[in-house]
Amino acid sequence: MNRRQTIPKHLRYTIHDFNEQFPTDESCLEHLKEQRFPGGITYCDKCQQDRKHYKITGRPVYSCDHCGTQISPMAGTIFEKSTTSLRLWYYAMYLLASTRCGISAKQIQRETGVTYKTAWRMFRQIRSLLSEADMQLEGAAIEMDEMYVGGKSKGHAGRPMRGDKQKSPVIGMVERSTPEKIGRVKALATPDVTTNQILGLVHEYILPESTVFTDEYAVYDRLGARVKEHKRISHSSKGYVMGDVHTNTIEGFWSLVKRGICGVYHQVSQKYLQSYLDEYSFRYNRRDQGNLIFTSLLRRVSELAAPRAVGDRGMSRA
Ligand SMILES: [Zn+2]
Repeated sequence: MNRRQTIPKHLRYTIHDFNEQFPTDESCLEHLKEQRFPGGITYCDKCQQDRKHYKITGRPVYSCDHCGTQISPMAGTIFEKSTTSLRLWYYAMYLLASTRCGISAKQIQRETGVTYKTAWRMFRQIRSLLSEADMQLEGAAIEMDEMYVGGKSKGHAGRPMRGDKQKSPVIGMVERSTPEKIGRVKALATPDVTTNQILGLVHEYILPESTVFTDEYAVYDRLGARVKEHKRISHSSKGYVMGDVHTNTIEGFWSLVKRGICGVYHQVSQKYLQSYLDEYSFRYNRRDQGNLIFTSLLRRVSELAAPRAVGDRGMSRA
């Protein structure tokens, strides 16, 4: 299936669009400035009043035309202190937003000529924007399941055999889509999977009036007391759909993650596992937005930028 063709026209954003919108470092800087200072930089912290600012040629800063105080739109963002071209950052974000299974640092290295280390650091920074830690699941029907990354032994459903410390567990919860709204996912890397952990996550992320679907694994045993209804798919019928009792939605997400981690990233250390899960979840939760996921990602740069050192009045005075 060619997924590109399924994206409605108004949601398409191709590499051609990218090249047109962001032909140069300057155009990216201008875009970043508009995101952080809509309507332009108007306020000078030092003069403590509105002042005209002008761009300093050859440098990514704007200067107050009265006192000369300089403001960089990159300050406080993931681009601060980077010597990599801003356009390359934008391009890396475009690629990360428009693939389905992720993009490797190796590919950026090949395409653009930056070192592997630089490419890897860029992606780590970009991924740091993708966490949706506070997001609650609101769907009436939620599927919950775990998967395991790495390790060799295969217990039931890929669950680790006793003593298998190499597998890193991930607990996932996903809303089932409705005609009005696509279902969103929450995926968390955890040191282990216990009943208490499961109950804690249910309490934190799932509404009490939801119905939750799991399999028969014992860690889900006490879940029913916390939600409206707990429906379980029996092991013997795993893989089959018994009416609405299935976990196919979360399994679909797992296969996306596995394809990416095995196929694109090859292996992911425990330390960075959560950031990769955040990357997959970010795209999954916006899969109805086509390639405009890129726009959401660009917005995150400004949303998560550190506030300016001296007040943030300049930012709110749009
Ligand atoms: Zn000034």
